[in-house]
Amino acid sequence: MTDRVDGGLAGRLGQLMFKEAGGEMYALIEELYPICRSITGNGVRETLDLVGKRIPLNVQEVPSGTRVLDWEVPKEWNIRDAYILNGRGERVVDFQESNLHVVNYSIPVRERMPLAELRKNLFAIPDHPDWIPYRTSYYSETWGFCLSQRQLDRLSDGSYDVVVDSRLEDGHLTYAECRVPGRTEDEVLIFTHVCHPSLCNDNLSGIALATRLAWEIRQIEPRYTYRFVFAPATIGSITWLSRNEDRLDRIKHGLVLANVGDSGKFTYKRSRQGNAEIDRAAVHVLKHSSRDHEIVEFTPWGYDERQFGSPGFDLPVGRLTRSPNGAYPEYHTSADNLSFVRPEFLAESLAICLRILALLEDNGRYLNLKPKGEPQLGRRGLYRKMGGYQGVPKEQLALLWVLSLSTGEASLLEIADMSGIDFETIREAARALAATDLLAPYEGNVQDEIKPRGGGAG
Ligand code: ZN
Repeated sequence: MTDRVDGGLAGRLGQLMFKEAGGEMYALIEELYPICRSITGNGVRETLDLVGKRIPLNVQEVPSGTRVLDWEVPKEWNIRDAYILNGRGERVVDFQESNLHVVNYSIPVRERMPLAELRKNLFAIPDHPDWIPYRTSYYSETWGFCLSQRQLDRLSDGSYDVVVDSRLEDGHLTYAECRVPGRTEDEVLIFTHVCHPSLCNDNLSGIALATRLAWEIRQIEPRYTYRFVFAPATIGSITWLSRNEDRLDRIKHGLVLANVGDSGKFTYKRSRQGNAEIDRAAVHVLKHSSRDHEIVEFTPWGYDERQFGSPGFDLPVGRLTRSPNGAYPEYHTSADNLSFVRPEFLAESLAICLRILALLEDNGRYLNLKPKGEPQLGRRGLYRKMGGYQGVPKEQLALLWVLSLSTGEASLLEIADMSGIDFETIREAARALAATDLLAPYEGNVQDEIKPRGGGAG
C-alpha cells in the first residue's frame, strides 16, 4: 500500500501491464480449477484461502438453518470420493478424474443396482458425446452421476456398485469480502459467485477478475469505498443482502462479474433501474472501446444481479460478462476448461472493468466560472497541445463542450455522451480547465441553484 499511484485509477490504468495481469489471472484459475466447490463446504474455503493470498479477505461463516430473507442457509456439503464400479470392480465413472462426474450436492449412497435402475440417475449430453455435463441438486435430497455420452454408451447390462462418499450435515455457508476504504462512505459493490466446481469461464474467470480488480484498487486511494464479495450464487447473495440490509443505501454502483475469460463479445446487462450511472458508465466505456459488445436489458434471471435488483432493494447493480450464461455450448460442461479461457481475454475484461470504475471515480459536475462569451483559451495556455493539427481536434472540442455544459447540471459522463467524445478526453479537458480560473468542481445542490432549461415555469 506504500506505492500509491497519483492520478487514481486512471493513472493506474496507464501503467498497467495487461499481458502480465492476464497471465496472473490465468494462473489463479489454474490453481482453483481442481477444487470441488459447491454452495457450501470446504471447496469454497480452499478457494477463498487461495484468493486470500492475493488480497485480504474477511471470511464469514453462516450456520446452516439461519433464516436469510425468504430462504434458509442449507446444510453443508462435502465430498471425499464417488464412483461407479462394474462387475469386474473397475471404476467406470470416477469422481477422482473429474469432480463434474458427481451431481453437485449428491447425498451419500452405497448401493448395488442394475443398469436400468442406475440410468435414472445418469446424465449425459448426446449432442456433445465427449463432454461431461455439470448438474446440481442443491434443494432436493437426491444423488446422480454425470458422464460423457460415450461413457454411457459403453455401459453394458449387469449390476453396478454405486458409491457417493459425501456428507450433507449441519455446518456453514462461507463467503468473503474484501473491503477497500475510500475517501467517502459511498460504496461500489463487486460481486462474483464462487460455487462452481471445475469450470473455468463460469465461474473461475469472475473470481480471478474480481481478485485482480481488488488488488488494483488497493494500489490507489479511491474516492469510493469498494466491497468485493465472493459468495455462492443465489443463496450467497441472498445471505449477504440479509446481513447487510441496514447499509445497502451506501451502494451507489455495483457490478456482477462472471464469464469474463472466453473469446466472446462483451455483454453488459443493465441494472433493474435501467439507466443508473453504472449503466451509463458501462455503455459509454463499451461504446468507445474497440471491442464488439452487446447491451441487454435487465431480466429477473441470470446471476446474482437478480437478487440485487429484486424490487425490495432495486440496487444500481449491472452485470458484465463476455458470453452470457447459457449462450455458449461449453457452458456448464467439462468443455468450459482451462483451454476455453485465455489470459488475453481476461486482460481485456480487466481493462474494460478498470475503465468503468475509473469513470465512476472521476465522474463529477463542474461549474463554468466565466460563462459569458467564450473565454480566451489561448491566453491560458490551453491551445498549446493542439499545435499542428488540421481541423478541430477532439481535445479542443472537449474544452468547449465542458465549458458549454458545466452549469452544475451535467456530469462529465453526460457531457461525454452529449458530445460524442470519449470520457477520458472530456475528463482531461475538465482537469486542464480546472487548473485555470475557468472551471471549478461543483458540489452544490443542483435543484436549488440551477434554473431549469427553457427559463422555467412560474
Ligand atoms: Zn453457472
